Amino acid sequence: MTTVVYIASLPRSGSTLLSLLLGAHPKMVAIGEVSQFFRTDPIGQERLETIPCSCGAHRRDCVFWGRVHHELKEIHSNVEARYRVVRAVFEDLYGPDTLLVDSSKSPRFLTPWRHRDDVQVKVVFLIRDVRAYTTSHHLHARRRGHTDRRRFASYHFLRWYRLNRRRDRLFEEPDLNCFRVGYEELCLYPERVLPALGAFLGVDFDSPPSRLGTLESHVLRGNRMALQPEKNGRLQYDHRWMFHRGWWLPSLLFPHIMAYSTQSVYSPLTTTLWQQ
Ligand SMILES: [Zn+2]
Repeated sequence: MTTVVYIASLPRSGSTLLSLLLGAHPKMVAIGEVSQFFRTDPIGQERLETIPCSCGAHRRDCVFWGRVHHELKEIHSNVEARYRVVRAVFEDLYGPDTLLVDSSKSPRFLTPWRHRDDVQVKVVFLIRDVRAYTTSHHLHARRRGHTDRRRFASYHFLRWYRLNRRRDRLFEEPDLNCFRVGYEELCLYPERVLPALGAFLGVDFDSPPSRLGTLESHVLRGNRMALQPEKNGRLQYDHRWMFHRGWWLPSLLFPHIMAYSTQSVYSPLTTTLWQQ
């Protein structure tokens, strides 16, 4: 039986940070976004070849992904067979008691892990404050020079709500074990969040690790943080959104979204701390 910890989140919501945090635990190994490894388009595969792994090696030389690559004789074999190879290599290297952390984010990449007798799935649903999410996507769209609706902060604000509501409904399914984590809570009060997350995952997690990411993290993709060891050192909160105003107007126009964000991201325990 393999236990898969599946990090579900919207893009730019801290999934790389959470996967490195979990991967630093001795009973878990983070292998990044498994779904990305199975992109079959040539551009996707070619890009993957050039992206280094968070362990410091290139994909072909990585102790985990290099071996998976080697064992996948037929590159076009079906998705189920590919996931089987990932599991087999993982169990061989780390044993059956180590938790596999997949940060593929989208609910649709949960499918290959679900409804299997030999896989137990635990979903960690990570939500970032709508103001921080909006600012991050808004600035990203500006940097990229997008001239379509993505240049409006309100677009990202509404999108955050629509997609998270949809995930709420999906993860309510009775056969899914799901635990919700607020990104802000996690970064600012890890000593409160981690023990509860550890209890859900069945591991002791009393305090944050001294360093995020270890040689036993194999995160191929994700944001730049995964590949920059000097930024992996500790849990840091990205508070840049506080200095931008793009979210002001949508937060006034859509108070129900602000209420949903507050309720979803901050637990009652830490909300009282925020107000102090
Ligand atoms: Zn690696």
